[in-house]
Amino acid sequence: MIRANDNYSKLKASYLFSDIAKRVNDYQKKNPDADIIRLGIGDVTCALAPAIIKGFHQGVEEMALDKSFRGYGPEQGYEFLRQAIAKNDFQDKGCDVAADEIFVSDGAKCDCGNFQELFAGDIKIAIPDPVYPVYLDTNVMAGRTGKNVDGRYEGIVYLDCEKQNNFLPQLPKEPVDLIYLCFPNNPTGSTATKQDLKVWVDYARENKALILFDAAYEAFIREDELPRSIYEIEGARQVAVEFRSFSKTAGFTGTRCGFTVVPKDCMIYDSTGAKVSLHAMWNRRHTTKFNGVSYPVQKAAEAVYSPEGKKQVAEQIAYYLNNADVIRKTVADLGFDYVGGKNAPYIWIDGKGRDSWEFFDLLLTKASVVCTPGGGFGRCGNSYIRISAFNSLEKVETAMERLKKALK
Ligand code: PLP
Repeated sequence: MIRANDNYSKLKASYLFSDIAKRVNDYQKKNPDADIIRLGIGDVTCALAPAIIKGFHQGVEEMALDKSFRGYGPEQGYEFLRQAIAKNDFQDKGCDVAADEIFVSDGAKCDCGNFQELFAGDIKIAIPDPVYPVYLDTNVMAGRTGKNVDGRYEGIVYLDCEKQNNFLPQLPKEPVDLIYLCFPNNPTGSTATKQDLKVWVDYARENKALILFDAAYEAFIREDELPRSIYEIEGARQVAVEFRSFSKTAGFTGTRCGFTVVPKDCMIYDSTGAKVSLHAMWNRRHTTKFNGVSYPVQKAAEAVYSPEGKKQVAEQIAYYLNNADVIRKTVADLGFDYVGGKNAPYIWIDGKGRDSWEFFDLLLTKASVVCTPGGGFGRCGNSYIRISAFNSLEKVETAMERLKKALK
């Protein structure tokens, strides 16, 4: 008899965005004429920039000729892309990251979901609430939690992010081994200063803990003094892994490319307390379970760092951030408290005591606007909704006009 992994039965029945899609589809069926505007799931809407398409085409053309055709590439990514990433995203910004510390992948979701495989089953994990659900669910699948009781898994140390603490996780009262952080944050759009991150780096160093830092929204940072990478913090190379993605930075949600930085200084500990190289472990895992990102996609990603690519991508980010400004202004005018939208494509809105699914249904049925109910990201999101700035300016403006009518 083939037995199932019982840990899967601890998971909430379906992924948040499947639940939302179902409600939206039901509403559309009942209201076939409704012109639904989607500001829910964080998916980009602008086409790939011309410089990126040029790089992509070039890669495809090379695949069409025997002399330039490529078969399996290096699992960790082609040298040209690893070098471009290390130079542009880190070294030019004063961060000590080498090309061979970069592992190119098909996106940050897989990497931040898979990384937990490297750790023992009984480590203590701290996870912010609200949170991008992947960090939590992958640890549930791996059996690192107990049951879900009242919306929280036993065994996890939740770091509540609320108005009182500026939506920033605070150090846990009990010792933890692994800490997930994400800035600019999904879902709240909040940001952390260098000082905020230093507190965590110091904690990790003192407690032989590890930080998994998700910087998928780094490109949206507008305020220069905010850190773009955890490696801007002294000592982070010993205690932090960073996940990055081309998805939101350059419109790769459907093209698929991201990368993970695993510094060679990063050590974890075996059952005897001896140091183990995290870089060597991730390299072993990556080369065993992953066969590299397709060559044309890596050429497209390389083009993100060309002078034209940088300019075009910056214009797209500015476009989305302008949408975020329109949303922020509307919700403020309507008298709602919110955070985010300044250095992030998400605006996290306090529903004034409304349950988040109730608020979601209200916007769907009264304005035909889709948002994301905050409760889907954790208990601390129960009275919030997330509105995403990923759409056309025209649709965002129409959605905001509808919100004004529905909520005034
Ligand atoms: N990390 C965070 C915080 C995200 O919000 C997302 C996507 O929404 C991802 C990672 C996944 O990115 P990718 O498309 O590279 O898998």
